[in-house]
Order: sequence, then C-alpha cells, then structure tokens
Amino acid sequence: MGIGKHPDDSLEVMNPQPLIDNFGREINYVRISVTDRCDFRCVYCMSEEMTFLPKAQTLSLEEILVLARNLVACGVTKIRLTGGEPLVRSGVVGLVKSIRELPGLKELCMTTNGSRLQDLAAPLKNAGLDRLNISLDSLDADRFRELTRTGRLGQVLAGISAARAAGFEHTKLNAVILRGRNDDEVLPLVDYALENQLDLSFIEEMPLGVITEHSRAEAFIASEELRTIIGSRYPLQPAADVTGGPSRYYRIPGHNNRIGFISPHSHNFCGDCNRVRVTTEGRLLLCLGNEHSLDLRSVLREGDQSEAAVDARVQVALHQAMTIKPEKHHFNLDEEPQVLRFMSATGG
Ligand code: SAM
Ligand code: SF4
Repeated sequence: MGIGKHPDDSLEVMNPQPLIDNFGREINYVRISVTDRCDFRCVYCMSEEMTFLPKAQTLSLEEILVLARNLVACGVTKIRLTGGEPLVRSGVVGLVKSIRELPGLKELCMTTNGSRLQDLAAPLKNAGLDRLNISLDSLDADRFRELTRTGRLGQVLAGISAARAAGFEHTKLNAVILRGRNDDEVLPLVDYALENQLDLSFIEEMPLGVITEHSRAEAFIASEELRTIIGSRYPLQPAADVTGGPSRYYRIPGHNNRIGFISPHSHNFCGDCNRVRVTTEGRLLLCLGNEHSLDLRSVLREGDQSEAAVDARVQVALHQAMTIKPEKHHFNLDEEPQVLRFMSATGG
C-alpha cells in the first residue's frame, strides 16, 4: 500500500513508494547541505565577503535527521553530507551516527575541504561514515591560499593522512581546474593521487552564483583537454565500472586508482540523473542547474508536529516534488549565471 489519505483526512504513511520522476528516473541518492558556512572562500565557489543565513532559516540537526529518515523510507540508499563545509557545523559527528543507523541506508558519504579532518577523521569513522571526498585544487601552498583565500595546504594534507590512518578507503579527491590559475597542477595532482592510493575527479567549473574574480568563460577548461594533458604522461583507459553518477572514470594501467571527469558542460549527464539535493534552508532542489524546488522546511515546521504527521507530510511532499524534476540542465558560460545561488548554498 502506498501513501494515502487516512479516513479522518490526515495523511498517513503506510508503505512508502520509491521516488520516481516524470522521466522514469528513480531517485535514490540525496546530497544534503548541513551548513552554508565555510572556513574557506574558494574563488569559484564564494565571493570574498559572504552573508550567511541566520540560524532560524537553516534546518536544525533534528530536522535534517527527519528528512533523512523519510528519504530513506522512500528508497534513498545513498546520502552525502556536504555544504558549505560540513565539518564546521557543530554536532555533525552525532548527525552522521544517527543517519548511519537508519535501516535501508547503504552508504553515507561526506564532501569536505579537509581542513578539520585531523581532529575529526577518527570520530567520523567511528560514527559510521563510509566514505570521504576531499577537495584539493593545488599542491603549492601559496597557490592553495590564493585559490581558497583562507586555506592552509599543510592542514588539508594532514587531514588526508588522518583520513587514511582512521581507516577510510576509496577516498576521492575533487579538483576544479581553472585556466591560468592551476592548469599546471593537473599532472602533480594525478601523481599525488597515485602515490597516496586516492581516486581523483576533475570537476568542470559550473556557473553557480555571481563571482567577480575571474571570468568563468575564460577560466573554463573542458575535461577533454585535461584528459589530453594527463594522456601525455599516463595512458588513460576508460574504466569498465559504471557508477550511475555524472563522473566518467578512467584507469591507469598498473594502478588501482580511478581518475574521473565530471563534465556538466561537455557531457550532459542528466539522462541517468538519480539525485536531488537539500539546501541548508531545507529547500529540495530537483536539479543543480535549475531553480525547480520545494520548500521542505515549511512542510516540516507547519502543522501537526507528531512524528507520524510530520513523516506523512514529508513523504507526500517528496512524491509531489518528483513531478517537477526537470529533464535536464542548461549551462552557458557566456551568459549571466541563470542560477544565482552559490554552490555552497546548494550543497555541491
Ligand atoms: N566544502 C566542501 C568542499 O569544498 O569539498 C563541500 C562543499 S563544496 C561546495 C563541494 C564541491 O563543489 C567541491 O569539490 C568544490 O570544489 C565544488 N565546487 C564549488 N563551487 C563550484 C563551481 N562553481 N563549479 C564546480 N565545482 C564547484
Ligand atoms: Fe568552502 Fe567547499 Fe566552497 Fe571551498 S568549495 S568555499 S571549501 S564550500
């Protein structure tokens, strides 16, 4: 039995159905932004001066857990916590533990800038976090500082070591390469990943939010060009394993690591999109490159606060949202950004 109306007209959840959109895509992966705040100000992600959301507008940890519980009840098997920087949110380790205990969840991951992993890698592992993605755009301390505006490379490299020491496996580095800023770091980053048994994904810069420091069109480098640079030193062979995600993976013979390319411009991956995002404010975003969304915070906060009533409302809202998930995104670097929110608010 699916979600239905109770005879007394209150909504009751009996046996939730999976989340399937109008294009037949099943949504089983959700990225949740646990904060819009961050200790870095990466040039492609934030402006130097940022105004962050007042606390009352952001979801509490308890509300995030309620959403996670209902998402998992509706068939979501993978959750990624992100931000902003998820590790600046106090109580995040407890949240990881609670979400990981939800029956039916297969994988709980986190994307982090790594700055706090020296202290938090072991507690996160003990709390049950399955995997980490760590962002790293440069191996040169001065360059790293320029790109992040506030970050310290040594701290992040120590964080990466701490993650390994804590027992995290299949950790993946994410790198955004900008022409004229760090395009000479492609090969050093590949070398570093190979030496440290890390996977590595190169992400094409996306036009999210208005930035002034560089022209996104001029800084843009397509994944194809990165593959040519890497191919000058290492033979890249397309990996047989398909992840269902937007990354296209390659392997280098003799190494176990995967090198991935996330190419929202040059390769439209919308056809197999299996994901949605929840912003820090509790907005369910149906597509990274569109504004289609549903306000889950109001659904959580308005009405009967009994657990059954909240669960029923949330699950009905999730199913309703499936009907407005767009078929695909359109990014155009030469135009003004169509999406004014920053990646940090979106949950990248
Ligand atoms: N603070 C964490 C971090 O940096 O890993 C998690 C949040 S961050 C928004 C997630 C990922 O989005 C990072 O790997 C970052 O490089 C990427 N990102 C941010 N802004 C982007 C943009 N405009 N285009 C492409 N990737 C972006
Ligand atoms: Fe912070 Fe991550 Fe955005 Fe950098 S990419 S400013 S670390 S949220």
